[in-house]
Amino acid sequence: MKSPQDLKILLAEDNKINQRLAVMIFKKLGVACDIASDGEEAFQLYQQRQYDLILMDMQMPVLDGLEATRKIRAFEKEAENNHHAFIVALTANEVSEKKEVCIEAGMDDFMEKPLRENLLLKLFSR
Ligand SMILES: [Mg+2]
Repeated sequence: MKSPQDLKILLAEDNKINQRLAVMIFKKLGVACDIASDGEEAFQLYQQRQYDLILMDMQMPVLDGLEATRKIRAFEKEAENNHHAFIVALTANEVSEKKEVCIEAGMDDFMEKPLRENLLLKLFSR
């Protein structure tokens, strides 16, 4: 298993304050992370750098989290290296009713915003 420091991580989040909060937390944990400000940018970056972990905000401009996830999964299917990014939906609040849609789009897990250090550590340990 890779240690968190070796993981390629992407945060897809349009809100600048949430981005800054995430950068602070990642820095504290000693983990590097790229940032995309919308779903299309997340997809573009993914094509260049196949991330191990993607934290995907649900609501973003251009392409939202669901659409970006669908595009990434379609891309993975076409690619021949069997890479599967672990995609975690970042949700603003209780979304139990949306979970099915998220899973259908290809997301692997859910995390409630704001990002918290202990939840990230738990995620890294998987
Ligand atoms: Mg958002």
